[in-house]
Amino acid sequence: MFFSRFIAGFKGGIHPPENKFYSEGKKFSYLPIPHVCYVPLQQHIGKPARPIVEVGQAVEEGQLIGEADGFISANVHSPVPGKVIDIVHHPTVFSPKSLCIVIETEGAFTSSQQSRVPSSWESFSRDELIASIKEAGIVGLGGAAFPTHVKLSPPATKPIDTLIVNGAECEPYLTVDDMLMQTFPHEIIEGIRIAMKTLGVERAIIGVEDNKPDAIRALRKVLLETNAPTITLVSLKTKYPQGAEKQLIKALLRREVPSGGLPMDVGVVVQNVGTIYAIREAVLYKKPLYERFITISGPIVKNPGNYKVRFGTKISDIIDEIGGLLDEPVKVIMGGPMCGIALDTLEIPVVKGTSGVLFFGKNKIESENFLTCIRCGRCVAACPAGLLPCDISILVEKNLTDALAMYHLFDCIMCGSCSFVCPSKRPISHFIKLGQQRLKSASTRMT
Ligand code: SF4
Ligand code: SF4
Repeated sequence: MFFSRFIAGFKGGIHPPENKFYSEGKKFSYLPIPHVCYVPLQQHIGKPARPIVEVGQAVEEGQLIGEADGFISANVHSPVPGKVIDIVHHPTVFSPKSLCIVIETEGAFTSSQQSRVPSSWESFSRDELIASIKEAGIVGLGGAAFPTHVKLSPPATKPIDTLIVNGAECEPYLTVDDMLMQTFPHEIIEGIRIAMKTLGVERAIIGVEDNKPDAIRALRKVLLETNAPTITLVSLKTKYPQGAEKQLIKALLRREVPSGGLPMDVGVVVQNVGTIYAIREAVLYKKPLYERFITISGPIVKNPGNYKVRFGTKISDIIDEIGGLLDEPVKVIMGGPMCGIALDTLEIPVVKGTSGVLFFGKNKIESENFLTCIRCGRCVAACPAGLLPCDISILVEKNLTDALAMYHLFDCIMCGSCSFVCPSKRPISHFIKLGQQRLKSASTRMT
């Protein structure tokens, strides 16, 4: 095992207030099982799963209820035992109307096909490992929710030499990955070894920001005990967005993912620590992904902390279970405050990609009004993707779509650093998203 402290990082980036103190060091608690779950068939990037249950049907905890539909898709399993009471369109973080299987909890927790005896995964072939991960419906738990079995099966034309394990957790407020590394270091190291075998690589690097000393200590202890010379632990300088894939690769390997490219173009696959934990559960215990740990935090949360939550649990149900809020919520964000999505209803359920839910009252909300660009250049200096956020925002504002083509909008990682530093409070990343949509529509019209 090699441990190093890495000081250099990547170009750009910012240092927003971390605000992790609300939930930092809080051990995992388990939220009660919800009475009714709204389980979306779209919880991942790609095509939604196809429902394979009917209204009135009884289901077990962990039973397959939605089958992956196509190459980039993922299985969906029941988070609770009970009865399917409806299959309806319901608001989710992906869409205001997304097909959900509604399950009323009842009956015993006899988990479908799961095993309490761990499998000896060392004897599994790579194909068998991929099949276990696919069957369990594992997707990236860092927020991207890309199907993991696809990511771990790169084409033969893209040889991979390194697995990077993302323990950066650079988003303010979120502490779930930190607590996962502190609580389950053995499990994470074993999960990394499983992922290495699945990918067929000899090298893994775990990147953890240096604001998580307890997690670093826990992982280092396990690495020393288990004598794992092919796994390196690196303490990264704390800087946002250190956890973005391209920035992590740059910081750890000095490799530059090309414009429009993917990590596999430079021989790398990146997996979040939460995903690694879920991979191990799937391979050793055949456990489908139907629950996860999340951070629930923010200035108006009475009991901020790190909680295990079943998918399909509505945000409104969570509020009651954690003891309520101190004030009326004015803004609720799923994910971190920089990259997360502001919710317009508390009926939205927790899904596989939910790393946290943050609640803010009126004191923390800034004015929606923004001013004209004063050409200060702060957004350009902050942009880790090397873009010109100020110019892009002006072009989108003025509806000059044709001129956008040369600005590499699709290299934007939506980190929000530009908006954060802008003294004119311009919602630059929203402008960029809008610009991307307009460019896509323009290219569709031309074809
Ligand atoms: S332009 Fe995109 S990548 Fe650059 S700082 Fe803004 S949101 Fe981040
Ligand atoms: S930070 Fe804001 S005001 Fe400054 S150049 Fe960028 S968009 Fe303009």
